[in-house]
Amino acid sequence: TYVVTDNCIACKYTDCVEVCPVDCFYEGENTLVIHPDECIDCGVCEPECPADAIRPDTEPGMDKWVDFNRKYSELW
Ligand code: SF4
Repeated sequence: TYVVTDNCIACKYTDCVEVCPVDCFYEGENTLVIHPDECIDCGVCEPECPADAIRPDTEPGMDKWVDFNRKYSELW
């Protein structure tokens, strides 16, 4: 899965949401989030993010961001 990280805070761009083929972005408190079970790992959103906030969960230290994305995407 891909995850939204802290660079997203207060970002007003939604280019990532528009390109996602499965509509798995949700609105968190201060960020967008990606539902980890709905993301199909296509990667098209990553280069669209002007804040470089979208990362693959295979990078080190991403576990807490997976939890964060899951928490806020399941509030809806
Ligand atoms: Fe959507 Fe693909 Fe980004 Fe996952 S990697 S959030 S499926 S655009």
